[in-house]
Amino acid sequence: MKLAFRISTAMVAFALLASPAMAAEKVRWKLAMSWSSTLTPFANAPLNMAKAVEEMSGGNFTIRIEGAEKHKAALGILDMTKGGQYEMGHSASYYWKGKDISTVFFCTVPFGMNADEQNAWFYHGGGMDLMQKTYEKFNVLSFPGGNTGAQMGGWFQKEIKSVDDLKGLKMRIPGLAGEVFAKLGVNVTNIPPGELYTALDRGTIDALEWVGPGMDIKMGFHKIAPYYYTGWHEPATELQFLVNKEAYEKLPQEYKTMLITAMKAATADMFIENFADSLDAWEQMKTEFPNIKVMTFPKEVLQEMKKASDGLMAEYAAQDPTFKEVLESQQAYTKKARVWTEISEYEYIKIMQEL
Ligand code: CA
Repeated sequence: MKLAFRISTAMVAFALLASPAMAAEKVRWKLAMSWSSTLTPFANAPLNMAKAVEEMSGGNFTIRIEGAEKHKAALGILDMTKGGQYEMGHSASYYWKGKDISTVFFCTVPFGMNADEQNAWFYHGGGMDLMQKTYEKFNVLSFPGGNTGAQMGGWFQKEIKSVDDLKGLKMRIPGLAGEVFAKLGVNVTNIPPGELYTALDRGTIDALEWVGPGMDIKMGFHKIAPYYYTGWHEPATELQFLVNKEAYEKLPQEYKTMLITAMKAATADMFIENFADSLDAWEQMKTEFPNIKVMTFPKEVLQEMKKASDGLMAEYAAQDPTFKEVLESQQAYTKKARVWTEISEYEYIKIMQEL
């Protein structure tokens, strides 16, 4: 009896210890982001994600976030995640267009989908699979990392009345949109964010685009350029979480689930936060600088941009089968999604305007 009792106590004790011991595996990761730690709401996506993972795991799975001010390699995030110096990264997929042109689709492309349509494509239209296929060769996993929604077309010193007004214009504009503008004669430059205000103020550049009111207000562009153009070039800029594949595969299943869940929640939060920030910032800008003129490019200019963009897409598709595959997937999905957007959200806004 005594022996049996002892054995069963030991078994109970073992059973009690065994499962918490497995869940309590300590994992310490690091994440490098393209932004400084104070660049909100971008920086909030990884910070919120890491906080959620830490709390869900009872403090056992922690991810230390490092901003660009620390690692000094804002555009080295993919390399550092691939190499394993950091298990994770937070960046924007179109920064890697020099490594693989197909990466642009997982951020945003000129005249592409809006945020609702793009989210539906990612999660229900095959986008996640195509993204993973594109990132396979880098030995990383890529996940959506927070969307800005439609970005503003930028701050201009002069009104753009025709395509001729674009010729010789010096502008900071990244991604495929920069290539589109270059085709229309714009002198496209890339200037680090910290130097943009001075460049615009001193006339080193005539125009620039950044994000939208919520983030632009912190840069102060509204104080020095009167024309604020509406967007065409980044209709749904999705940031990205990168995860080193080997590191991910070593995680216990429950940590994988925590990570995936926390990334998705932080991604949704950033979209909401950026939207709310933009409302507040726009109200403030218009109050302090009532002369800001919101402009939309003339139809003739937009048609030329669209033509240049379509030409560029066709050129890349002819060179690269993956680019062609993702382009065709997005085009087919946009066609289907836009019909619904037009009779739901768009029609609703229109009837409200007409009441
Ligand atoms: Ca932008």
